[in-house]
Amino acid sequence: MRVTHTTICGTDSHIIKGGVPTVKPGTVLGHEATGVVEEVGSSVTNVRPGDRILAACVSACGYCRFCTTGMYGQCVNGGWALGHAIDGVQAEYARIPFARNSVYKIPDALTDEQVLFLTDILATGYEVGVLNGGVRPGDTVVIVGAGPVGLSATVTARLFSPRNIVVVERTAAPAHQPPTAVERDHARLRRVHAQRRDRRAEGGPHQRLTTS
Ligand SMILES: [Zn+2]
Ligand SMILES: [Zn+2]
Repeated sequence: MRVTHTTICGTDSHIIKGGVPTVKPGTVLGHEATGVVEEVGSSVTNVRPGDRILAACVSACGYCRFCTTGMYGQCVNGGWALGHAIDGVQAEYARIPFARNSVYKIPDALTDEQVLFLTDILATGYEVGVLNGGVRPGDTVVIVGAGPVGLSATVTARLFSPRNIVVVERTAAPAHQPPTAVERDHARLRRVHAQRRDRRAEGGPHQRLTTS
């Protein structure tokens, strides 16, 4: 395929940092791409040269015991091949193994960019986050991390009509901002307690303090 769009996965950065020792040095990284078919092997019948396609992050043979039960990610003949066992898609051109089961034609009505996240990121947020999390109508869902996978989980969790979705993410320390209502309230209570302490220390009459 001639690659038109790719994304950089968190997995790629793990590889760069040495976290995936099975990747040989010099391997072209990348397992999430869209592109245009340049050439097909003899058993590829689902796409033809010129088709716009999405290449899945997992290459599925289609006939092993995992593929035949729909667990393509565990395929014993392909699996995570791109940018791992073989050169991946962070390139102008890439070879996609088991293409008959591993690439999908992009509908004319959709742009490459609109489907790009289906290669891995959106599917990960949906399956590993929302489906494994068992999201049900009325639930309160907490999603830790608002990166691409967290945002995909946020979008797809809404398919199950949760009551609340709470996304937890770190933010940079804000520049000086006016105190919030809660901070003003705490400051007022600290002043009241300090006044009480001072009065007791002076031995004066105990007075009722207004707090407004
Ligand atoms: Zn990925
Ligand atoms: Zn397989």
